[in-house]
Amino acid sequence: MKILFPVSELYPYVKTGGLADVAEALPKALSALGHDVRLLIPAYPAVKAAITSVRAVFDDGNLFGGGPARIWLAALGGLPVPVYLLDSDGLFERPGGPYQRPGGGDWPDNPRRFAALSWAAARIGWDGADGWRPDVIHGHDWQTGLMPAYLAAFRRAGPDRRRPGTVLTIHNLAYQGQFAPSVFGDLGLPADFAGLNGVEYYGGIGFLKAGLLLADRVSTVSPTYADEIRRPETGFGLDGLLRGRSGRVSGIVNGVDTTVWNPADDPFLPARYEAADLAGKAVCKAHLQAEMDLAPDPHVPVFGAVARLTYHKGLDLLLGATASLVAGGGQLVLLGSGEPALEAGFHDLAAAYPGRVAVRIGYDEGLSHRIQAGADSILVPSRSEPCGLTQLYALRYGSPPLVRRTGGLADTVVNAEPWAVAEGVATGFQFDDATPGALAGTLAWAMERYRDGVTWPLLQAAGMATDVGWGASAQAYLTLYDRAIGDVAGFV
Ligand code: ADP
Repeated sequence: MKILFPVSELYPYVKTGGLADVAEALPKALSALGHDVRLLIPAYPAVKAAITSVRAVFDDGNLFGGGPARIWLAALGGLPVPVYLLDSDGLFERPGGPYQRPGGGDWPDNPRRFAALSWAAARIGWDGADGWRPDVIHGHDWQTGLMPAYLAAFRRAGPDRRRPGTVLTIHNLAYQGQFAPSVFGDLGLPADFAGLNGVEYYGGIGFLKAGLLLADRVSTVSPTYADEIRRPETGFGLDGLLRGRSGRVSGIVNGVDTTVWNPADDPFLPARYEAADLAGKAVCKAHLQAEMDLAPDPHVPVFGAVARLTYHKGLDLLLGATASLVAGGGQLVLLGSGEPALEAGFHDLAAAYPGRVAVRIGYDEGLSHRIQAGADSILVPSRSEPCGLTQLYALRYGSPPLVRRTGGLADTVVNAEPWAVAEGVATGFQFDDATPGALAGTLAWAMERYRDGVTWPLLQAAGMATDVGWGASAQAYLTLYDRAIGDVAGFV
């Protein structure tokens, strides 16, 4: 199958969230299954710097007001799939992040910049580039939300031929690409696309809304999140539209890079280990306690958390539950940065419980690996979590995750109910209510199970045997692509 994969982020060059990881990992997994995948990404400076070979496939006079634009076909770094680069100095040659100025604040011309990306995807999809035309285009988030709209416009204006199928994946419904109505004039879409059946969204323009309405298939990054986004309380204003398209909406969980996250071969760890022999994990625990100035005790349950400190990650719940975690004889290691009030709250806890609570504010890749390996359990108390990665690492590192039952956390952790433990399928702990009390209660339950001498090895074994790689998800996407291609016949 020929798959075009337009994205606005790509690990390790340009990253603000999980999309960048998916953009790197899923095309690789699809390519390993024998499919012809090509990425499309704006030629940001960091992307240009990684080009190892390139040739031009397309020139445009003045793309979306950004001056001359080109599409290149390039090889990037060690990436095994070819990459189309949308090169426009006026739109993408600038410092800062992909969406924001260096000091913060969105680039005011973001609508034109990502309309251009969506347009380029549709253009390659409709006319082909260099003799290559995809069977399906798999877009991501609002930045490629207009892709199905441009494709529909090309089809209307052009020769009568079958267009590629389209899939749009939501990585986080909170980001919707919502703009003033005046933006419509910049988009180059036929006038009737301005209405409710096109890009109109609550009186303005909605890039994600348009994509969710017009793509053949919509997916998101876990089945439970796919369900949550169709409910008013968690649908961010798009639940009605998504309910209307229910038969076309599905969820596929992300995988992790099992070469980077592998306790048997992880260069960040003081000792390596695998399911059959966890001796190295005990070394990692002792090392973590020493590194973080926690009391050196192999028997105390150590809970770890690695997260952006934001409200939606539920870290305020952990602030409220830490006293009872400590009272129950546990230790806490937290790594993260974010909202000042949460940072200050965890600083205060570390000061209040020396040797029991250790906090590192900042971003530290190596320490995040050592926490996954050295902790007995990883905490993920998120209020909402489209998929989540840290609980998947925790499964692989033999650190049964304790999570709130939402989104991808609900789908990837099997709660340690007695029957599930007995069957050998339980992999961690779940709690429902987003309250410190509910978290504290589940922490107490987990500590009890930790000390019973029976449960923990069963949880660890089941978690470490769970397949958290990309293989199964890549297969699920291929099925979705087939459905999208099948849908085209009945679509305008
Ligand atoms: P989100 O994308 O919402 O932040 P995920 O769980 O999907 O949540 O992914 C978060 C990723 O960022 C994980 O790989 C996690 O290990 C990493 N991470 C978060 N905070 C830190 C930090 N302070 N230091 C190192 N890695 C971090």
